[in-house]
Amino acid sequence: MEHLIELDKKHFIHPTSSIQQQQSDGAKVVMESGDGIYLTDKNGNVFIDAMSSLWNVNVGHGREELAEAAAEQLKKLAFSSSFSTFSNEPAIRLAEKIASLAPAGLNAVFFTSGGSESNDSAIKLVRHYWKIQGKQERRKIIALKRGYHGVAAASTSVTGIPEFWGMAGHMLTDFTHADTHYENGTDKAIASLQETIEREGPETIAAFLAEPIQGAGGVLFPPEGYLKKVRELCDEYGILFIADEVITGFGRTGKMFGMEHYGVTPDLMTFAKGVTSGYIPLGGVIVSDQVHDVLKEKSMGTLFHGFTYSGHPTAAAVGLKNIEIIEREGLVENSRRMGEELLNGFRKIKKELNIVGDVRTIGLLGAVELVEDPDTNKRFAADMKVAPKVIEALHERGVICRAVTYESTDIICFSPPLVINNKEVADMTDKLHDAILSVQNELGIVRS
Ligand code: PMP
Repeated sequence: MEHLIELDKKHFIHPTSSIQQQQSDGAKVVMESGDGIYLTDKNGNVFIDAMSSLWNVNVGHGREELAEAAAEQLKKLAFSSSFSTFSNEPAIRLAEKIASLAPAGLNAVFFTSGGSESNDSAIKLVRHYWKIQGKQERRKIIALKRGYHGVAAASTSVTGIPEFWGMAGHMLTDFTHADTHYENGTDKAIASLQETIEREGPETIAAFLAEPIQGAGGVLFPPEGYLKKVRELCDEYGILFIADEVITGFGRTGKMFGMEHYGVTPDLMTFAKGVTSGYIPLGGVIVSDQVHDVLKEKSMGTLFHGFTYSGHPTAAAVGLKNIEIIEREGLVENSRRMGEELLNGFRKIKKELNIVGDVRTIGLLGAVELVEDPDTNKRFAADMKVAPKVIEALHERGVICRAVTYESTDIICFSPPLVINNKEVADMTDKLHDAILSVQNELGIVRS
């Protein structure tokens, strides 16, 4: 083990990590295997994967069927190009399958290898859409503060968390962010969006891009009517609506796609993560018939946008098998039912402890906010590091979870595999209770 950790320090630059911390502390956990909602590290410690790793292992770990689907395709045709007029059957069948699951009117799929590539692709596609209609001035993208959309060039800029722009300088031009709905409510957030559109000039705006539910921003649900009003504003100003379903797609929220909860159909949808449950990298953009028709009619010559792995046959074969599992095992429905169980567990914890503010779930996407005063929602000072302490306490109890502490929030996020059962939900929430209680005691907060 020690040797591995030395090699890790020397040769493996971890994504989204503190390089200094890696050098001083070394890798804390080296994972070895997975089964269902559980992960086991090289020392034999077993953890509940309460985040489905990176919100993505929807069907749970250790699925032999997916390994077999990959092996079969790897042996037959591991890879071939989808550029120009070449195609392959798994990619065709997966595109058709995704179209059948997507909201009515979204039927054509451009494949990528992940969420960032999908958002960059969607942004380039909408700019192309306007350009071929003689409206090249429509280039700007409006997104939301606290939104997270990835780390490629455009997806970094469309992300509404400034730390991501600062890492290598600044964001690209032609991106701007309206206030999020979190703590603002529908009216204020819509007013901010409208003001942003007016300020930037509607005729310069290509699209609005947002997650149906902000994930990495803290699992923030849109308030009543918000997305409907966004759709109306987009229509009023002739702006396309891109929904980032990278987290919310493929059953995470108790419906196949997150937008279904709000009765709103976007013009483009980006997806990744749950499409293969992370067994192999894959993502994509689904476009509306209306957008596709414009592309079919007016996109002359070569579309100069394509990744080597767009339409990867093996990734597509795994995607198809993964969706088959989601459907066969009723995992979208299980997500809805277990999400309700999880919420009951959260509510019980809120009742029994003193530092729990809002608790929420939508399917198996949930959050517990920790606050100094649940009556007023007064937040803890950031330097108290309350949420990171709870994450640490959860880790000690065998639960891997994630905190959002951006702008002094203390939000514990949950996104467990969709295969979780009642007993496992109860075990996970018991451990959460213990972890929060231990931090509450450490802070010296006693029940009044
Ligand atoms: N969009 C959303 C909503 C995400 O949560 C993420 C990743 N967490 C991305 C895009 C980026 O996806 P990837 O990391 O696969 O590039």
